Amino acid sequence: MRIIYSSCILFLFLLFSACNSGQSNSSFSLSPEDEKKIDDLIRDMSIEEKAGQTCQITLDAILQKDSSNKLVEPHQIDLKKLDEAINKYRVGSILNVSNHTFTLDKWNGIIKTIQEAAAKSNTGIPIIYGVDAIHGATYVQASTLFPQEIGLAASWDTSIASEMGRVTAYETRASGVPWNFSPVLDLGRKPIWSRFFETLGEDVYLAKTLGAKIITGYQGGGVIGKNHVAACLKHYVGYGFPRTGRDRTPALIPERTMLEYHLPPFKEAIKAGALTVMINSGEVNGVPGHANRHLLTDVLKNEWGFAGFTVSDWEDFINLYKIAQTDSTVKDAIATAINAGVDMSMVPNNPEYKTYCELLIDLVKEGKVSENRLDDAIRRILRVKHRLGLFESPYTTKEDYEDFGSEKHKKKAYRAAAESITLLKNSAELLPLNKSSRIMVVGPTANSLNCLNGAWTHTWQGVDSKYNNNENPTIYEALKTGSRSCDLYEGSVMKMVNGDEADFYSSDLKTAVKNANNYDFAVVCLGELPSTERPGDIYTLDMAKEQQEIVKSLSKTGIKIILILVEGRPKVISEIEPLADAIIQCYLPGDQGGRALADIVFGEINPSGKLPYTYPRHSGVIMHYDHKQSEVVNGNTWANDFFSPQYSFGFGLSYTNYEYSNLVVDKSSYSLSDKITVAVDVKNTGARAGKEVVQLYSRDHVASISPPLRKLVRYNKIILGPGETKTVSFKLSPEDLGFYNYDNVWVNEPGKHSFYVETLESSFNLK
Ligand code: BGC
Repeated sequence: MRIIYSSCILFLFLLFSACNSGQSNSSFSLSPEDEKKIDDLIRDMSIEEKAGQTCQITLDAILQKDSSNKLVEPHQIDLKKLDEAINKYRVGSILNVSNHTFTLDKWNGIIKTIQEAAAKSNTGIPIIYGVDAIHGATYVQASTLFPQEIGLAASWDTSIASEMGRVTAYETRASGVPWNFSPVLDLGRKPIWSRFFETLGEDVYLAKTLGAKIITGYQGGGVIGKNHVAACLKHYVGYGFPRTGRDRTPALIPERTMLEYHLPPFKEAIKAGALTVMINSGEVNGVPGHANRHLLTDVLKNEWGFAGFTVSDWEDFINLYKIAQTDSTVKDAIATAINAGVDMSMVPNNPEYKTYCELLIDLVKEGKVSENRLDDAIRRILRVKHRLGLFESPYTTKEDYEDFGSEKHKKKAYRAAAESITLLKNSAELLPLNKSSRIMVVGPTANSLNCLNGAWTHTWQGVDSKYNNNENPTIYEALKTGSRSCDLYEGSVMKMVNGDEADFYSSDLKTAVKNANNYDFAVVCLGELPSTERPGDIYTLDMAKEQQEIVKSLSKTGIKIILILVEGRPKVISEIEPLADAIIQCYLPGDQGGRALADIVFGEINPSGKLPYTYPRHSGVIMHYDHKQSEVVNGNTWANDFFSPQYSFGFGLSYTNYEYSNLVVDKSSYSLSDKITVAVDVKNTGARAGKEVVQLYSRDHVASISPPLRKLVRYNKIILGPGETKTVSFKLSPEDLGFYNYDNVWVNEPGKHSFYVETLESSFNLK
């Protein structure tokens, strides 16, 4: 017998009008008076003004250019172009900055000029400015930079996620920008995908819980004040799962997988009050994200009650015609996307944006886009502008933000880095090192702030060092400060060649090998050049052979090797892993990463990060921790040992040891209305304090849809002093242990279930 909790009944969604505007999720309703103000505004707007509100252009489109069409340096707004955008085309939104990082002053000036022009326009509606501040205010000089999302996830700490959100919002708003294209809630289940580092890892529960906290940090969890920004969930939905692993290519996702894995992080973030959503640039099951009326209107807006607005990704209306080839003209493509439920079009360039506005006006006049639908889009956009207080305070001044780039904020970013960096191997307790050790630091990521920060930092691809906050040490500089003797050798050099990541032996590799006998330890820093989107597409997950060679040649000298990984995706290291005595995964830890890593190496910090993904051993075998029984059977031995990752999801060592015991569930049998309490004792058996992530997994032993062997259902990061024991208990309801059945209905099936913590198992029966 099946026990059905809820059904996603499509017919019900269809009862809602596509143009439904009254529905709102509770965390995001405006007062009736405010809704009325918006209605009044819309009533007085012309079709031209309405079409313009849905148009988003880049800053470049209104900047001064020289006679060869290059942006004039330093950037200056072209007042004629601004006037044209605002008063002729009535654009509602501007985004980004072209491969530059501005000072706070410059940002304040730009936003003020834009908003003053908007205030003088016929409608007086403020512009909503958006930017990718994805791990701190990445395009503002001297801002505080946190680990990228994959690192945040490795902290397994919801307070770190909300602090990252809070500080980022504050520093972004200090610049005058009230809208952040973050967080990415695509799951990280394709490690080769160039944007893997922008995700919260492979697990749906981890992504869901951390994602919701980032939203609270950005938006303040209630009234959106002058220190907050609107979040933008992206990229709705399925973007992170391209079949080939290459960016913006097709994904195939069965409805059940969509419901169980890809949608929940978005749904949770909408519940947390997220104000905006950016759409998947790719396609799922042959339907481009921007044409998917079911996902955009039926699910997001009608079923979930999302009352904010959706924005397209880069040029994606045009791309329905140019790339997806599902529409035969740009005009048709605009109608498709707006009618599917996209409310704002990122049509960044000049003059393309003008064509967009003109075509949309024609479409409305021809009845191919109804005025109702247009009004719905406008209402949503105006609600967000209203919630952000832009009508009253359209710009900010840096004087009101004295904590910008402060020590206080840097400490938060340092904590985030220190708690995410993950110790993967520590043979014979080699780490922590004594500060009097003689250390050689080798490898292409050893002395680079760009590598620590990754893409979307100061510039799109993150490879320009001009704007780096150089007072923050690189790994080499931080190790040198902490140790008696420390020298740098590059070993190999990473470059982009013809759009692909390439490595070259550095001339000093031979010298490093020759000098190895003069040192006690080699700290070898390998990894990746920053990159994202299409420029970050690569051909293999294998670590570059030139980088592997550094470890191979040094290991022949007999020196002890500490391998440091600075990488956005897990590069396969199975050949060199046995040659390293200790291994530390840094992810992309941000500006404080050098310091945090050095403090871990020298034992000031006891590492507590845990992998938010399964680290593959072979580039041809990408499996996740929540695999099924059929996937572990080894066709060569017929043993259940095929799943053999380099490191497991949730894995990470400490300088102390933890012992788990007494995993107990409070009853041996539960009915559906019961609450489940499960508890476990954790003891720190070592001599130093540490933080441990207690991870609770569940299993339904027999189910009508072949069940995964484990599913993460709860986690809690705790502090334990030396010798201390704590009992950690979790509360769940049986519903948390369900799954989507054959009919795509969330169900629980009776029978044997188990909980696991580490190697402990405790079983119970579900009635
Ligand atoms: C990316 C988005 C980003 C947008 C604006 C696009 O190319 O896919 O994630 O928010 O550009 O910069």
